[in-house]
Amino acid sequence: MNVLLAEPTRIGRSIMTRMLEEEGYRVTAVDSAETALGVLNASDEIDVLITAIEFATMSGLELCWEARIQAETGRPLYVIVLSSSRDETKLVEALDSGADDFVYKPPNRNELLARLRAASRLLQAQRQLYRYANFDSLTGLRNRRAFFEDLERQGTQRLIQSVIMLDIDYFKQVNDRYGHDAGDDVLREMGGRLARIDRGFSRMGGEEFALMVPTGSMAAGELAETIRHIVAATPVQTCAGPLAITVSIGVSAREADETFAIALKNADIALYASKSAGRNRVTVSSTRGEGLLREIPHKQVA
Ligand code: GH3
Ligand code: MG
Ligand code: MG
Repeated sequence: MNVLLAEPTRIGRSIMTRMLEEEGYRVTAVDSAETALGVLNASDEIDVLITAIEFATMSGLELCWEARIQAETGRPLYVIVLSSSRDETKLVEALDSGADDFVYKPPNRNELLARLRAASRLLQAQRQLYRYANFDSLTGLRNRRAFFEDLERQGTQRLIQSVIMLDIDYFKQVNDRYGHDAGDDVLREMGGRLARIDRGFSRMGGEEFALMVPTGSMAAGELAETIRHIVAATPVQTCAGPLAITVSIGVSAREADETFAIALKNADIALYASKSAGRNRVTVSSTRGEGLLREIPHKQVA
């Protein structure tokens, strides 16, 4: 476990660092709340924040708040507050500021280690819950729920410009002809291929996948064509033998004043156009409304 220790006194930092390192914890020790926040912002490897309350400028309690906000974005973090004050209101304030636990200074070694073991159990459970809530167990990709949560977060920051929607062609026939297990193998392999192209791919349901991209529709269309080609070029290994699989793709960019819901709808329309035109192709919806649909020519491979 990675521990971030924020403690203003040099002696406190060195005693606790030694105590924790002897037990195998990796410790980053800092002397101010601001520096601690900088470490939390820069790395998502920290599992536990142990912080004093008394700092010269930003207080440890403010740090708790900020750390809690970070933890809410899906990154589990356990916060333990240290204080030399026996004042009960301090304890209440710390817990109300987002701390998970409170330890008196100087900490008793056995007590602190036992509390860290409890933290480890809770973090493990939280991580598992996060996995169940955000990832699809068959493909390992992010799920529909996570897709829309990312969309809400990144969409408001305007980081995303286009969306790629992809659907496996004639997938029902795979199940009907080769069995559900072979169908599952196709989905699993599709998840693997898509994740290697971009880890942000989500399984939206059934045999439909989506990716948000930060580029405009031209570049997104080219990426989509690369994906189409990668899928079509190599048969998928399944329990029923190798199967030739193709995908149809729809791409749409968001216009400056549009919500992303419109871009999603346009990508869906473009995907439908790829299906109607014969499948195994990419269609880009280039403008708003009914949208001009433009088919991307297949890549020529030497
Ligand atoms: P199209 O080319 O128009 O997309 O046709 P399609 O057969 O791919 O589409 P359709 O929507 O008719 O069929 C999708 C099938 O996907 C139906 C459903 O049983 C199957 N399916 C959905 N989820 C899973 C899954 O997790 N595993 C397996 N094996 N099949 C699934
Ligand atoms: Mg399909
Ligand atoms: Mg479908």
